[in-house]
Amino acid sequence: MVKHWSILQINKFLNELGYRHSIKREHILKVLFKEPLDALGIKSLILEKYNINISLTTIYKQLATLEKIDVVYSEKDEFSEKKIYKLKRTSKQNTLVCLTCKRIIEVNTACVDDLVKNMSNKRNFLVLEYSLNLYGYCKECNNGSKITSGK
Ligand SMILES: [Zn+2]
Repeated sequence: MVKHWSILQINKFLNELGYRHSIKREHILKVLFKEPLDALGIKSLILEKYNINISLTTIYKQLATLEKIDVVYSEKDEFSEKKIYKLKRTSKQNTLVCLTCKRIIEVNTACVDDLVKNMSNKRNFLVLEYSLNLYGYCKECNNGSKITSGK
């Protein structure tokens, strides 16, 4: 599957690159996790949600940093001509892990993405990260026999 960075992963990455931790940056990331926004939108949402007033200059500076390290990218909105910032997705896949040969098989889990999105909407729960790893035996290790799971 394709999944977002978690804020924890981004912070770790920034730290490894020598950037100091910033609460303001963390707020920017938090609102971008929810939806793509332009700088002004980010500013007003942070003000609304966290009651913190961050100057546009700071927001642009932080966004430039996040763009530079490839965590965020921007696109011009066709209609409003505004620059919209989006969180970049990593290419991390969900996997099938064979317990015998330790082979890791990446799987396409668009349906799991949908399920998570669905649950998230239903429960009004902001999902930042999830992973799905299924452990078992691959075809070779299972002597090529047909697998019937459950009943
Ligand atoms: Zn195997």
